[in-house]
Amino acid sequence: RNDLLDQWDRENFFHPSTHLAQHARGETPNRIVSGGKGVFIEDRDGNRLLDAFAGLYCVNVGYGRPEIAEAIAEQAKELAYYHAYVGHGTEASITLAKMVLERAPQGMSKVYFGLGGSDANETNVKLTWYYNNILGRPEKKKIISRWRGYHGSGLVTGSLTGLELFHKKFDLPLDRILHTEAPYYFRRPDAAMSEADFVAHCVAELEALIAREGADTIAAFIGEPVLGTGGIVPPPQGYWQAIQAVLEKHDILLIADEVVTGFGRLGTMMGSDHYGMKPDIVTIAKGLTSAYAPLSGSIIGDRVWTVLEQGTDENGPIGHGWTYSAHPIGAAAGVANLKLIDSLGLVENAAETGAYFNAAMSDALADHSHVGEVRGEGMLAAVEFMDDKDKRTFFDPSKKVGPAVSAALLKRGVIARAMPQGDILGFAPPLCLTPAEADEIVSKTAEAVAEVLG
Ligand code: PLP
Repeated sequence: RNDLLDQWDRENFFHPSTHLAQHARGETPNRIVSGGKGVFIEDRDGNRLLDAFAGLYCVNVGYGRPEIAEAIAEQAKELAYYHAYVGHGTEASITLAKMVLERAPQGMSKVYFGLGGSDANETNVKLTWYYNNILGRPEKKKIISRWRGYHGSGLVTGSLTGLELFHKKFDLPLDRILHTEAPYYFRRPDAAMSEADFVAHCVAELEALIAREGADTIAAFIGEPVLGTGGIVPPPQGYWQAIQAVLEKHDILLIADEVVTGFGRLGTMMGSDHYGMKPDIVTIAKGLTSAYAPLSGSIIGDRVWTVLEQGTDENGPIGHGWTYSAHPIGAAAGVANLKLIDSLGLVENAAETGAYFNAAMSDALADHSHVGEVRGEGMLAAVEFMDDKDKRTFFDPSKKVGPAVSAALLKRGVIARAMPQGDILGFAPPLCLTPAEADEIVSKTAEAVAEVLG
């Protein structure tokens, strides 16, 4: 049966982020995932794997939670679908909107629900354009993102994403999307720079970009509180305060993309709170439902919301929405998931066990001759490999050191992610991780690194 499924898969299925030709030829392994409990998944070949990336950093509460499954089943039996246009809602969607606002950073006014992080960011960009049109500033439309930022893979969101893989051969980025320096202190342009110097450098780069383009052409700046797919990189101290000061000076909105950091991953409910960010719009997805059903959200701050309302007084209803906005099944999953995050104390566990996990990873690997940095925050961690630490040189990408360590770790029963740019092994376990499970990830990672790099 597995052979047949494997054959059907290769014949019919277009997988994301995949070497399509190799896959069709059967050169890449398939895994048919069949179950999950806590931090473990199972496949149809009988393997049990510790998922130290929580799917795609999304299964925050862990796998196999009956509370969420039952909430989904109840909702499906009672009312599987109704739309959310013009005042229509369900108990689940209205309750979830209230719960999200109670957990959102200060100054937030409303939430619009979408399906995934990409479409939520698409919404957010559109809203900043609408906002500036209503304010009579039709030229103020460009969006600044960061190199190595990840914001999705649609046309606009793939443009916002600052990773080459997502632009190459797609004619992206589109006009109006600009990129500035990533807050990646470890890869600073000059090894002699202090962290404060590097923050000043990021600010100077941003100021130069704004001066070159003209502040009156720039609508918003978008950033993840911690760079995720670009390498799991917490910002240097003082970065967000310094960037926000620039944005305020030039009347540029801040979109905090909290698709990964929202709902506990950094050990605070929201990543914005962790870094004292004051966003105008917040993107949420993943941890909103712990991926038990697809749901995302755009949380809109008072400053933008007031103008949106004004816009509809002047122009009639806002022309935005999807059939599945606030889908009742996603909303029911979201309500049950947020309750579970609270009742299990998962935000606190992300802070405590996350700190333990990061410290253990650092103790085990920071001194290895090919480990340039072990970094992390809350329940996010990364190990970055280097060819020569003294000379600060990286491995030739064709050696695929990151994927080799990830494969060696998988052989030992632990899933971590070889991040797409650079030799970086990323970890984002479910927030229910225990110290014993953290120890298992760390000891097996040390073995995998020793196998590949000595
Ligand atoms: N924003 C961030 C920070 C993400 O990490 C992701 C996905 O990994 C997205 C947006 C896009 O979300 P989705 O894949 O649900 O469209």
